[in-house]
Amino acid sequence: MRNLTFYKRFSNTFGEYPSLSKFLVVFAVSGGGLVAYSEANIQTGAKVDELPGADGAKKVVVLGTGWAGTSFLKNLKNPSYDIQVISPRNYFAFTPLLPSVTVGTVDARSVVEPIRNIVKKKNLNVNYWEAECYRIDAKNKKVYCRSSQEDKEEFVVDYDYLVVAMGARVNTFNTPGVEENCHYLKEVEDAQKIRRTVIDCFEKASLPTLSDDERKRMLQFVVVGGGPTGVEFAAELHDFVSEDLVKLYPAVKDLVKITLLEATDHILNMFDKRITTFAEEKFHRDGIDLRTGAMVVKVSDKEISTKVIKTGEISTIPYGMAVWSTGIATRPVIMDFMKQIGQTNRRVLATDEWLRVEGTNSIYALGDCATINQRKVMEDISAIFHKADKDNSGTLTVKEFQEALDDICDRYPQVKLYLNNKQMSSLVDLLKESKGDVAKESIELNVEEFKSALSQVDSQMKNLPATAQVAAQQGSYLADCFNRMEECTNRPEGPLRFRESGRHRFRPFRYKHLGQFAPLGGEQTAAQLPGDWVSIGHSSQWLWYSVYASKQVSWRTRSLVVSDWMRRFIFGRDSSQI
Ligand code: FAD
Ligand code: MG
Repeated sequence: MRNLTFYKRFSNTFGEYPSLSKFLVVFAVSGGGLVAYSEANIQTGAKVDELPGADGAKKVVVLGTGWAGTSFLKNLKNPSYDIQVISPRNYFAFTPLLPSVTVGTVDARSVVEPIRNIVKKKNLNVNYWEAECYRIDAKNKKVYCRSSQEDKEEFVVDYDYLVVAMGARVNTFNTPGVEENCHYLKEVEDAQKIRRTVIDCFEKASLPTLSDDERKRMLQFVVVGGGPTGVEFAAELHDFVSEDLVKLYPAVKDLVKITLLEATDHILNMFDKRITTFAEEKFHRDGIDLRTGAMVVKVSDKEISTKVIKTGEISTIPYGMAVWSTGIATRPVIMDFMKQIGQTNRRVLATDEWLRVEGTNSIYALGDCATINQRKVMEDISAIFHKADKDNSGTLTVKEFQEALDDICDRYPQVKLYLNNKQMSSLVDLLKESKGDVAKESIELNVEEFKSALSQVDSQMKNLPATAQVAAQQGSYLADCFNRMEECTNRPEGPLRFRESGRHRFRPFRYKHLGQFAPLGGEQTAAQLPGDWVSIGHSSQWLWYSVYASKQVSWRTRSLVVSDWMRRFIFGRDSSQI
């Protein structure tokens, strides 16, 4: 009992001071597995007809328990909502470690945290249902759900606010045979299946009954997609084979071949060129057969057909196991919802900069299932001009302009990006440039000149990537808005509304890029940090260990992951078929 109290207090302390956790992580990584365990109580779900909300509290329904949904729940502090969480997965999964799970570097259980553990620690009114939402009825503010249990019972939940954080599905690009024959690497179950299949392939290839050709085929592993996930998986598989399996399967070790297929000219396209080149060279050295410019056109149960994009030449690769990792697509339930709200010409659900779904007023969408439709300056250019022209003179002076500047940059972040890229210190420089009179301080622009000065700024707009980093930041941003809903309704803190009067209630969402990693195997990782700072090698691997340990959602998973890494260092990876 005493120990439990100690652990609780210990865990709470670090919950309150997250920066302490980073200190401890480095200590834990290098010093040896310090464990803090917070007691978890299981919460029982309420029946639908007993749903809270009758007392007037606003009902918030959260769909999904991934990065976006969990980050929203973790950061929500305002106890005045009734929150219902609906997801077919009763846990949060730390996806960046899934490639490690595929070969047993880290155990599946170490990267998941039950959602009931997460919400129980909060002093909020939260209920969870293990179910999937199959229809959103925006008009009547209802979501239709189907239980994940065998009976598949259906129920309907009302909401005042809906937070859609359902993530995305795998994109097969309708390539024939992919669904039937390839493994995906999206969920924890996928990673577990891959691990069992790898071992299975080695066991099968070792049987005396196989022909030489079949034996060879069994040990051909094909990874489709040269993005971060495909590359990391290929690297992990290579390490597993070369560090552990070659010792256990000496008779067949020379037959193993790992092939990585990528349709474009290079792998890791979103990374700095130096990282791409290093990764490609390392894979060549490691004997991974890297084929770029090769698109998969068909997958049968034993062969993958690829087309060389430049020549159109078709070839086939026999395989024992194929992993498909080529990107994501919109879930059918979201497509259906998009039709309902008139977003028919879009591929991804569009929200405004406050994460509110366009065409609705109480539905928010975040993470992989949505994209922010950043408003263009040119759409509002006349309204901006008239708002800034405070004396209604029909011209803008530098002073008038400077007064509106913060609001303009707040509302349209592309303006700031444009100035940075052009190495201009302020918008005034932009005006001077457009007037072609750099020396003159008393510039005045009419509306046409103003339009031409800003005509290029929208070219800086980019969609945010579908990453955990974006999803988590969006979740915490939205939670912050919900926490301060009343306060900000009374005292809006957002930028000026250029087309209407007053201010926006909240500041728009801003993504802060903290850098990205590409683990390349052999204890080497490439890191691309803000400011295009690139680091590749063993030191980045240690940075990777520290960052990923510190980003764990609980002290329980943090301690499990760190001890898994140590177990692997000492004993290697487990090759049993469990
Ligand atoms: P998800 O995390 O996918 O969560 C979606 C949730 O919705 C799940 O709980 C799901 O069960 C639930 N759901 C699904 N259907 C329904 C339904 N019908 N009704 C209700 N709920 C539903 N990103 C990085 O930034 N760094 C990395 O290193 C990185 N590595 C990755 C490695 C792998 C193997 C994978 C697959 C992804 C990786 N990502 C990484 C990307 C990152 O995982 C995603 O961008 C992130 O998970 C998106 O968060 P999300 O909440 O939108 O979706
Ligand atoms: Mg004026």
